[in-house]
Amino acid sequence: MVRVRFAPSPTGYLHVGGARTALFNYLFARHHDGKFVLRIEDTDIARSEKIFEENLMKTLRWLGLNWDEGPDIGGPYGPYRQSERLSIYREYADRLVRLGKAYEVYAYPEEIEQIREQLLSKDQAPHYTRELFEPFGTTQRKREYEEKGLRPAIYFSMPRKTIVHEDLVKGTVVFSEGSVGDFALLRSNGVPTYNFACVVDDMLMEITHVIRGDDHLPNTVKQLAIYEAFGATTPKIGHVSTILGPDGKKLSKRHGATSIEEYQAQGYLPEAVVNYLALLGWSSADAKEIMSMEEMISKFSIDRVSKNPAIFDPVKLNWMNGYYIRNIDQKRLSQIVQPFLAKWNFTPRDSQWLEEVLQTVKDRMHTLKDFQNAAEFFFVRPKVSLSVNEDLKSALLLCAQQLESSPQSDKSQLVNVIRTVVKSTKVNAKEFYTVLREVLTGRKEGPELVDVVYLLGAQETAARIRESLEG
Ligand code: GLU
Repeated sequence: MVRVRFAPSPTGYLHVGGARTALFNYLFARHHDGKFVLRIEDTDIARSEKIFEENLMKTLRWLGLNWDEGPDIGGPYGPYRQSERLSIYREYADRLVRLGKAYEVYAYPEEIEQIREQLLSKDQAPHYTRELFEPFGTTQRKREYEEKGLRPAIYFSMPRKTIVHEDLVKGTVVFSEGSVGDFALLRSNGVPTYNFACVVDDMLMEITHVIRGDDHLPNTVKQLAIYEAFGATTPKIGHVSTILGPDGKKLSKRHGATSIEEYQAQGYLPEAVVNYLALLGWSSADAKEIMSMEEMISKFSIDRVSKNPAIFDPVKLNWMNGYYIRNIDQKRLSQIVQPFLAKWNFTPRDSQWLEEVLQTVKDRMHTLKDFQNAAEFFFVRPKVSLSVNEDLKSALLLCAQQLESSPQSDKSQLVNVIRTVVKSTKVNAKEFYTVLREVLTGRKEGPELVDVVYLLGAQETAARIRESLEG
């Protein structure tokens, strides 16, 4: 059974890169009928915040990436929050000490820092060794630790040998002998380091495949050595390439919004974001671009994940979002636009009316936010003061009167009322319609005038005409 995990650290919002990692894991799990686990890696106590954890979960759900096991829903391999697993890490660190694969370090942090500086001053990479720490483990120091209620840190004896890694995405990666020195597994406060907690959890949670960003490739050598020390099977690991901005530099704030929450707030649809993220480094064999989640699940394959960096192209994301706005179910569109309407104080007449307004303007939208400008005049009467000749004025007035006295709700009948007025007066039809558009929308261009009149209704159309003539 395939078991994968998404293991975010709750130290910030879910970023494009993290969301892509979560998505690839999700697609992989679903494709193989496996399990998708959410694990919260909150051992960096100073930087981890509950609010970020909650936001991460909310955003993953918004994207439709639901997990099968996780801190909120539990599961057979819990707890799923690293801060709740400290005793487990202790137990496993002690086990490595007993096996002679790890050792206790009685040096204080300042002393460890001093060793580091000394090594650096000799132009050596700061590779710790058991021998370097040994002088600190005196009987007196041990007594001191005991009196202060301190525990020694636990360091891993990194084997000095070449380690070869077969990456699911990058292919063969060789970590040459001596590229890494010994490193901490547990700090003296009992908090594990990322590399250790990650391996213990992946091992105990029976994770079969690890898919993550390639910023973790340098950690992999350490993790492989820990698996080996436990005599455990290593999961298959694949590192997905970094996401770059259109200028070829690592995607960052400089390129615009980087967190999924920002995209949500800007009116991107989860369908579009997920579809777009999937194509950041993956493509289906048929090179199809617009795909539903189901389609992506059935087509997803780690073999088709690219080794090359993906370029984040906001123009393409906008195009895709526009596509989804035009093509998703009307009802759903009118539901997801609701929070935006509330923000702008747009009160729709009813849900049917809102759906029709959306239908009328959606071709002009790339994001839900565009609805504000594209449809504002349906919700708010524009302020228009006309300066037109008497003929046009009286034609407009007549139009208002006719609409008031025979209020029609049928589109073609409404059109007839207006056409008849235009014909019966001497006004130039084109000029009349241009003015009428301005009166009703405050603009020179927009959706079909008949749609505007129909959606505003006879009464409101007449009222706007009168108001503009009085103004
Ligand atoms: N907590 C790590 C991160 O957020 C997880 C890395 C991993 O997937 O192993 O980058």
